[in-house]
Parts: sequence; C-alpha cells; structure tokens
Amino acid sequence: MLEQNTIDDALDFDLFEGDFGAPGDTELSNKIVSSRGEYKCHVCGGQIVKGEFHRSTTWKFDGELMSYRCCNECCTAMVSSVNGDYEEGDPIEARYRLGHERRNKNRAAGVTVEG
Ligand SMILES: [Zn+2]
Repeated sequence: MLEQNTIDDALDFDLFEGDFGAPGDTELSNKIVSSRGEYKCHVCGGQIVKGEFHRSTTWKFDGELMSYRCCNECCTAMVSSVNGDYEEGDPIEARYRLGHERRNKNRAAGVTVEG
C-alpha cells in the first residue's frame, strides 16, 4: 500500500477526463486521507477499508455537492498513469474496467451500486 507522501501524485490524475464541464462546476477539495470508515471506490467499485490511504475529492456539479473516493490500489494506478507516458496499457484503464465489470455483475444480480 502506498503511503501518504508517495500517493500524492494521484491527486494530479483527472478523475473525470473532461466528461463534465458545465459552467460553475468546481472542485472543492482533492486530498489524500486516511479512511475513518468503509467506503466504495469510485473507480473500481471495490471496498476502501478503515485506515487505508485513499483519495477523497468533492465537486460541485450542477449546484450539487458530490463526493468521490478512490481506493489505494486505484491511486497507485493513478500515480503510474500521471508519471508514465502511456499511449495504451495505462494501468488506470484496467481499474476502470474492473469497476465496469463489477457494476455490470451487480446490475445483473439486481443490486444497485452507487458511485
Ligand atoms: Zn479502486
């Protein structure tokens, strides 16, 4: 698991890849935190456990506050993505794919997963 000082580069990873961008949308906070509870990762859909260093970011979209958390493993992939020069095979892509797979599986099972 990456510690707080190594994981900082993950903050530079653009979480929304330009998907959003209405006027007035703003990033309110973006930081690496130690988890005080259990959360679900926005990228891979996996669990973030207590004490895990992960990225927590809050945005205002359409006047609504939205919080996103990204697990340590996805942050690790973000660090590689930010520091590497990937044309293809970007490690974060695999994490997003994992998230899609998990959501599809849950949808098939009739479970709704947020994030
Ligand atoms: Zn994750």
